[in-house]
Amino acid sequence: MAKGIVVILTGASSVGKGAIRDTLLADPDLKLFYSISETTRPQKEGEVDGKDYYFVSHKQFAKSVRDKELLEYAEFNGYYYGTPKAQVEFLINKGKNVLIEVEAQGTGQLKLNLPDAIAFFVMPESIEELENQINRLYGDDQATVERRLSKAKMEMDLAPLFNNIVYNNDTEKAVAQIKSVVMEEMKKRAAE
Ligand code: 5GP
Repeated sequence: MAKGIVVILTGASSVGKGAIRDTLLADPDLKLFYSISETTRPQKEGEVDGKDYYFVSHKQFAKSVRDKELLEYAEFNGYYYGTPKAQVEFLINKGKNVLIEVEAQGTGQLKLNLPDAIAFFVMPESIEELENQINRLYGDDQATVERRLSKAKMEMDLAPLFNNIVYNNDTEKAVAQIKSVVMEEMKKRAAE
């Protein structure tokens, strides 16, 4: 059986990856399973443990790193985030396609561990739009706004390293662009 395809969705912080992710996951043609990350970040209202993230302690996260249970991990805004290896390997070995959403630093490690993965870098419509979005989300906490913005700018410098850059002017268009690349790859792999 052919292995499943790994789709990596990354990009600058606060760029709207979440809406793209949810639309891709809901698309029956793509048959994507979501890779649930481990994080030390506190659970937010409305988030479900084991669905949105596995919320773990620092001690548990450190153990996962030590035991080499993560395909990649990174620190973001004072918390750790990582992609559990067993879950992704189980799914792709069963021929299932997997979607991994990570911040930009994690992608390099993922590509080393999963060289056949297809990575998409989501860019904001413009820096101004990104600033507005960060202000809308975190405007009551100026330190977070500054941190998110400077991190997003640094991440955008990584964009040229990606083959697939997607401008998020319009979620539907961004999704259509990603879908066509993934469908093409699915056809190619089915023919191999
Ligand atoms: P949030 O706290 O807003 O849910 O996520 C913060 C950032 O962490 C987002 O850019 C998200 O894409 C990223 N992220 C989520 N899971 C992972 C992961 O497993 N690894 C890495 N490197 N980043 C992640």
